[in-house]
Order: sequence, then C-alpha cells, then structure tokens
Amino acid sequence: MSEYTRRAPETPNVPDDRNPPRKRKRGIGGTVFFFLVAASLVLFIAQNDGLRERVASLFEREPGEAVFPLPPEYGDSYTNDWGAPRSQGTHEGTDIYAPEGTPIYSITSGTITTAYGSNDDGWNTLGGYTVMIRADRDSGPVQRGDRLYYAHMSEPTPLEDGTRIEAGDRIGTVGRTAGEEPGTVADFPPHLHLGWYGGVGGLLGQEREYETAGSGAINPYPLLRQTIS
Ligand SMILES: [Zn+2]
Repeated sequence: MSEYTRRAPETPNVPDDRNPPRKRKRGIGGTVFFFLVAASLVLFIAQNDGLRERVASLFEREPGEAVFPLPPEYGDSYTNDWGAPRSQGTHEGTDIYAPEGTPIYSITSGTITTAYGSNDDGWNTLGGYTVMIRADRDSGPVQRGDRLYYAHMSEPTPLEDGTRIEAGDRIGTVGRTAGEEPGTVADFPPHLHLGWYGGVGGLLGQEREYETAGSGAINPYPLLRQTIS
C-alpha cells in the first residue's frame, strides 16, 4: 500500500456542507458591492453632460488676462531680443529695462516655485536672484502649467515656495544680480530678464505659435505685446 492510498480517505475531495466558509463569502460580497457603487457613480457622472462639466470645473480655472510685469511707464522698454548673442549662448527670453528697485508683478496667477539649479534664495549663476511661477490658468497665450521665470532681481523674493498668487501681485524688484557668488552685482544695466517655459520640463499642451528653443523656452516677446497694464 502506497503513501497516497493510505492518506486518501483522510482528505475527501468533496465539499463539506457542515462547515461553509461564511466569513470569506461576506468579504468578497462587500468588496464587489463597493466596486459596483463606485463604478455606477463614475458612469453616472460620465454620462451626464452637466454633471461632468461641473466635476471638471473643480479642476480648471477660467482663462485670465496676462499682466505686464512692470509699471506701465516701462511698457516699451524692451525689444525682441530672443536669440541675441549672450555669453552663455543665445538669449532665451526678453529683457525689460527699468531702474533698480522697480517693482515686478506676476504676469499670471499661479504658484511660487524655485527655478531648477537655484538655491533656496532663488539664486543661480546666470540669473542672480530669480523666481519661477507656474501658471494655474490659461492667461493670454500662456497655458496652464507653463512657467514664467523672472531673473536678476535686486534681492530674493519675499514669497515662499508654494505661495499662491494672482496676476499683478508684486513678486520682487528689478536689479542687476548674476554670478557665482550669491548677491553678486553684475556689470550690465538693471533689467528684468523674463523667461517662458512650457509645461513640466518642456513644450506640453497645444502646439505653440511662437519661437521655441530646445530647452523648452518660448519667446516671451509676443506674450508681452499682449499683456495689459
Ligand atoms: Zn535676458
């Protein structure tokens, strides 16, 4: 007699009705019920036009207008200098000239962030004291998620990372900072260097009508022409 035949009678391969696995059945039933309710809710929202728009609106903002980043008297204080030669290569932005200490306003509503390569004060070698703002709504030609970069400020922005701001809010002052050592005053005239970058690290979103660079930079000159003061 082999091991198998000796053991077989002790492990009958038939259901044991005297001990039904009640607990396990209830667990599966609850999970299935939960998923059915969740799936029904999603289907209900998806099939109802009005409800779908209302849910979507929780995550979107009405388009806004883009605001000129300096006081109106400097509204003509820049040229289309995109691509102009610079020490680090070609210029990927627009320079707006104004005296040291002139207030800088945010072009769009959005969130304060630190530009890549900057220290906690927003200092980086090329830009001096800088601040980056991620737009949280479409504003003129700026798309939600685009980032606007303000450089060479006279001092660090007083606004902390993650602060939510409206278009036109003051974010810093014009200066002439740049260089290896934080706080260095450069030998160029005071101006705001404005950069415009698409989405998260590149040109996400719709196709752009404007000149772009491989870095993800977009020529901000046409954007500035469309701003309001
Ligand atoms: Zn510049």
